[in-house]
Amino acid sequence: MKITMLGTGHAGVTECYNTCFVLEDHGEKMLVDGGGGNILLRQLKRAGIELHEIGSIFVTHKHLDHITGIFWILRRIHQSAKRDPSFRKICIYSHADVISILKTGYKMLLLSEDEEPDDVAFVTVSDGEQLQILGDQFTFFDVGSKRVCQYGFKAETLQGISLVCLGDEYLQAGGLPYAQNCTWLMHEAFCAEAEKDLYRPHRMNHSTVKDACENAKSVNAENLILYHTEDQRINERKQLYGDEAALYFGRRCIIPDDLETIDL
Ligand SMILES: [Zn+2]
Repeated sequence: MKITMLGTGHAGVTECYNTCFVLEDHGEKMLVDGGGGNILLRQLKRAGIELHEIGSIFVTHKHLDHITGIFWILRRIHQSAKRDPSFRKICIYSHADVISILKTGYKMLLLSEDEEPDDVAFVTVSDGEQLQILGDQFTFFDVGSKRVCQYGFKAETLQGISLVCLGDEYLQAGGLPYAQNCTWLMHEAFCAEAEKDLYRPHRMNHSTVKDACENAKSVNAENLILYHTEDQRINERKQLYGDEAALYFGRRCIIPDDLETIDL
């Protein structure tokens, strides 16, 4: 399994793109979240990923920095499907809130009155539901956000590698059973611990690098990926966050830049 990070920043960043990524396994690709806009199309292009290669999409929650980019994908899909009737139908997975917004938005913003959204399959997943995607087993779960309904997932490969994504929420009760002993944990980290008074991540229900590391350690995660960060330290964050992770996690911790790929 491979991850291509299309964006690594929080909602308000300007020096990188909002957090979203493409998962790839067995020659299939799934987009996870869309970031906040049309820059998603640029990031896909720069990553060398064609739209027709993406067979599925998962959206964690309805915040603008995660959902809005999906409308640009829907626009492209609709245009392509109109031109080429054999265009592969894309599957969008999420919980009921997000599916309702995407379906309504698709109809209202992109389709004419007599058109039906039949080039996209909108699939509502429930808490704990398991599905085979990319040839791997995905379990979707409610992360337990106090702000807005948000789902994460655990992907398990036949080789025994497990990847747990918590969206842009820190590890809470909803994610605990899934994150326990996982091979890879993707956890948000807004800023370095030393700069928490400057960025005040806890006010927004986000974590410092130290918090994320302690959470990863508490569930015995083997590897950690930190994302959804501030962007004022964009050039130093690998070093700065990496040093902090060495102190509080002590295992492999990756702080990816936009367009970086990670082989799991
Ligand atoms: Zn976010």
